[in-house]
Amino acid sequence: MEITVKELQEWLADFATEVKAKKDYLSELDTPIGDGDHGNNMARGMEAYEESLAKQKPTTISDTFKILAMALISKVGGASGPLYGSAFMNITKATKDITVITHQAELGSLLETGLKGIQQRGKAEAGDKTMVDVWFPVVTALKEESLTSEKIEAAKESTKNLVAKKGRASYLGERAVGHIDPGAASSALLFTTLLKFC
Ligand code: ADP
Ligand code: MG
Ligand code: MG
Repeated sequence: MEITVKELQEWLADFATEVKAKKDYLSELDTPIGDGDHGNNMARGMEAYEESLAKQKPTTISDTFKILAMALISKVGGASGPLYGSAFMNITKATKDITVITHQAELGSLLETGLKGIQQRGKAEAGDKTMVDVWFPVVTALKEESLTSEKIEAAKESTKNLVAKKGRASYLGERAVGHIDPGAASSALLFTTLLKFC
């Protein structure tokens, strides 16, 4: 693999396209177990990223992640904004001196700093029915150089039968069972669009 700033920006452009295309789907997932805004939140955040990217024209991996983090923190509104924002801010720091990522394991270690950011801010563990349930297995698979679309999909689906311990869905207790977590679904889009560069 060879991810330079060019591939990184292609990946994030693909992610933005997917989030906008699946905006209604993501908000529909958030309707029975949340407040129905996750797709709108993420689409607004990724549009803000695209605008900021065009204006600031970052030339490094780190600066690109910083623009993404700032856009999500300042424009998303919902819980997912600061959580994704913490992840990408940690990755901004971890990529300070990096111009190219050449191995899945290296990418896994970088994304692991992002996962730590999500967990520091949100205090969720794996199994709590949140985006962590996708980030955690994806980081593990990357570190083993074995990430596949099947693993990402399985991670997303695994949230369906969980009771939520964090976020709005946690207010529902057992009634959240049977529904995929919206943040797990948006994270699955993030990592599925990454596969083409792995
Ligand atoms: P809000 O719930 O404020 O409307 P969103 O709908 O945009 O925000 O995002 C909801 C998603 O955020 C959830 O599906 C879940 O994946 C994620 N989430 C919420 N709280 C936490 C947390 N404490 N830790 C990790 N992820 C969380
Ligand atoms: Mg919501
Ligand atoms: Mg909301």
